Amino acid sequence: MDAKRSSIPARLLDWYDAHRRDLPWRAKPGEAVEPYRVWLSEVMLQQTTVAAVRPRFATWVARWPTFAALAAADDADVMAAWAGLGYYARARNLVAAAKTVVADHDGAFPRTEAALRKLPGFGAYTAAAVAAIAFGERAVVVDANVERVVARLFAISVPLPGARPAIRAAADSITPDARAGDFAQGMMDLGSGVCTPRAPKCLLCPLRAQCAGFATGAPEAFPVKAARKAKPQRYGTIFWLEQDGAVLLVRRPPEGLLGGMRALPTGAWSDAPPGLEGAPAPADWRLLDVCVRHGFTHFDLDLALAVAHTQGHQPADASEWWPVESLASAGLPTVFAKAAETMERLR
Ligand code: SF4
Repeated sequence: MDAKRSSIPARLLDWYDAHRRDLPWRAKPGEAVEPYRVWLSEVMLQQTTVAAVRPRFATWVARWPTFAALAAADDADVMAAWAGLGYYARARNLVAAAKTVVADHDGAFPRTEAALRKLPGFGAYTAAAVAAIAFGERAVVVDANVERVVARLFAISVPLPGARPAIRAAADSITPDARAGDFAQGMMDLGSGVCTPRAPKCLLCPLRAQCAGFATGAPEAFPVKAARKAKPQRYGTIFWLEQDGAVLLVRRPPEGLLGGMRALPTGAWSDAPPGLEGAPAPADWRLLDVCVRHGFTHFDLDLALAVAHTQGHQPADASEWWPVESLASAGLPTVFAKAAETMERLR
């Protein structure tokens, strides 16, 4: 590590000593760390904010203050207490891990990351966080906050998720042998309060001089997000058939996109513009030189507009004539409402 980077751990730890958040599951300086509380908080925080977890944590530890108490808890009570904190599988794993700790480890956590990984519900992050924070083991702890801080410190330009191995290696390179738990918590606090996602407060940051992202002038550009994949493009034609001031509407088939909704008739939607294929009635159709564009979740749709006038056409069962003047009250889905607006502009 170069001299600039090598000063990161000491700078961060100094900052942490002065600015650490006071959290109910965190031991105060000089207090013994309680592994049960560290573990519980880390699991609770995986899908919920600190503000939401605070009261829930207090209630939980008042009710089940130890591994033994949690291991003996009624499953239904635990599930009810977990409501609103994310996946219930996490709560089930809490109980399973507490039972394992009581049955196989004399009521205390094993003290290494590797041994913790063998407990129910312990993924890489939870094992590293508990090993570092509760037992001071040198473990590399990378949560979303740390990921952001490290990507900025090292100006890692590979987009996520491909950047994760590089971010982890960079985090490893600055994790100190001593006080790894405080270092991890310091990085989390820095990410939460200073190196925030949208507008990092670099002027308050203890690592500004070491930060390659800050040096670029646009640290908020890191971590780089992968460009969204272009959606497939599909095409169709909307058929605007008018008779005596009314336009033909159809009821779309119950299955499929916009199923069962009132709509302007279209042919099939396909990979190439279908022209006049699928017209609802024989008529003197004219394709207009306009296109209605609409983005669905999984594809973009370009619809050409074809117009015709007719007389004496009997609508089929799922069709009806609707007065053009009151088309706004037909409840058309957005894509067809856009087509109606286009027609109104052209009339
Ligand atoms: Fe984050 Fe700015 Fe600090 Fe770099 S200098 S770590 S971008 S807050």
